[in-house]
Amino acid sequence: MPADAGQIQSWSYDSRANRLVFSTSSGVQPRAQLIFNPTRLVIDLPGTTLGSAASSRMIGTEVAEVRLGQFNSQTARIVIELSPGYVIDPQQVVVQGETPTQWTVQLPTPERGETPTAIAPSPSAPPASAATLPVNGAGTRLENVRVTPDGFFIRTTGEAASVDVDQGSQAITVDFSNTVLSSQVIADLPVNRYGVGSLTFSQLDTSPPTARVIMNLNQSGMEWQASASSGGVVLLPRNRALAQELDQLPSDLSEVPAQVSPSSGSLSTIQAIALQDGETQLLIRADGPIRPTSQWDAASGSYQITVAGAQLAERISGPQLSANSPLVRVRVRQATADTVVIQVEPAPGTQLGNLNQLSSQLAALPINRSDQAISVPPPNTPGSSGTALGVQNREGRVVVVIDPGHGGRDPGAVGRGGIQEKDIVLSISNQVASLLEQQGIMVVMTRRDDREVDLQPRVSMAEQANADLFVSIHANAISLSRPEVNGAETYYYSDAGLRLARVIHDSMLGTGIRDRGIRQARFYVLVNTSMPAVLLETGFVTGEEDARLLADPAFRTRMAEAIANGIAQYVRQNF
Ligand SMILES: [Zn+2]
Repeated sequence: MPADAGQIQSWSYDSRANRLVFSTSSGVQPRAQLIFNPTRLVIDLPGTTLGSAASSRMIGTEVAEVRLGQFNSQTARIVIELSPGYVIDPQQVVVQGETPTQWTVQLPTPERGETPTAIAPSPSAPPASAATLPVNGAGTRLENVRVTPDGFFIRTTGEAASVDVDQGSQAITVDFSNTVLSSQVIADLPVNRYGVGSLTFSQLDTSPPTARVIMNLNQSGMEWQASASSGGVVLLPRNRALAQELDQLPSDLSEVPAQVSPSSGSLSTIQAIALQDGETQLLIRADGPIRPTSQWDAASGSYQITVAGAQLAERISGPQLSANSPLVRVRVRQATADTVVIQVEPAPGTQLGNLNQLSSQLAALPINRSDQAISVPPPNTPGSSGTALGVQNREGRVVVVIDPGHGGRDPGAVGRGGIQEKDIVLSISNQVASLLEQQGIMVVMTRRDDREVDLQPRVSMAEQANADLFVSIHANAISLSRPEVNGAETYYYSDAGLRLARVIHDSMLGTGIRDRGIRQARFYVLVNTSMPAVLLETGFVTGEEDARLLADPAFRTRMAEAIANGIAQYVRQNF
């Protein structure tokens, strides 16, 4: 938090006059927007924190509630939420600053009316057929997913699904009870829409069947809601405006590519690599399907995009870069007979977003100049001093990032007896760190105490430290009504991550915890780190066995020893 940040000093809402008044300790330029489902006026105050202002108040019949929250570390948010069935005309909302620190928000009288909802699934979704009954005695079968103009629609057949949404800061977990996955479902589907990087589908459990959909967020803290009907489940962002802002796509591309052909024998030809839209994105266009992957190349300080199964068109070159281009250099080369590599070197102050797959033949890399980016500030954490240490004093030592999940306002999963994931994983992580340090391994921690750290700073700390390994430590959850689901899971994304995952996972099983396997997933910290990276789920806080274990300090120590031993074994074998 910059020293000159202001605070909200006071606020009040006059329900007869429909007027909100607030004051801040330093000048602010609010931004306001109207959001639907439910209808609410959202006022963001950049460069402002909540201070000690009261955080919410129930109001009455037309306006249900006024809530204050910290939208991100630099922006306070005031939400005026209308009661169900009431609407206001956004044209009649007046936000006025008497002084830079004294503001009035005047609402028109809320009226009963129709909210412009768009809950209906995409018109292209075929109607669910009641005749197709799911197998295995499950009531519901999850068939496929479509992108709608507002969010995602997960089509189901059979009974209406019953879903349970778990809102994490990095990913949102939606569990479908009594549901089996259709064999047609792609386990790991890149979508890059509405701030969601990918959707991961898994059959979490078979008796009774539970299907799990994980929405991996490109930007942490986005909230989604789910509503189920007999034809499927609609997933909508709570902050629709933000989701649209994060959405880089032209609106006519409403279908997720049903499948991506990995290597069909024939190569796609890359026809253009160009800066577009006022140099805000780098487009890669091919004449056939491409599925580029990307990662930061720490050695060259460039962002490397690899397109397998592709060749360069003749006479193709990178984009023309002007003197004040946000990019310093774009290098394009045919790395092997069937692989094209594009290296992008950003200018100082430029941030690159996540590569978006716009269609099967088109990908785009968002480019943000930092003065307009909605990005996360570097955290002023103990972790960042460790980062500098890691760069300067590694002296040939192996550097391992230990990343305790969640923290601060984000508790992660909450389980039996109210145990919170953020506390359990911090306890385990701190012990892992000291065990590794005792063995001469240098450790960079993304947090050492109970604080909120966004996803990108976790990745940045690892990249800046030029770390050799990245180990994210979490605990799992499912509905509290499923105490029988217990065990450890280990996630990886790259092949190098898989090798690390195997060693640590085997070691974790030595604690006696049940084995729920090693799985691949596009979690943010796994996809965006350039070193071998794994994400450990050290048990279920909702599980009867695991919750008892995870709440026990002696077990946490055993788990920490197991993880540290696994890491140390991998280090001995590979460095
Ligand atoms: Zn977690």
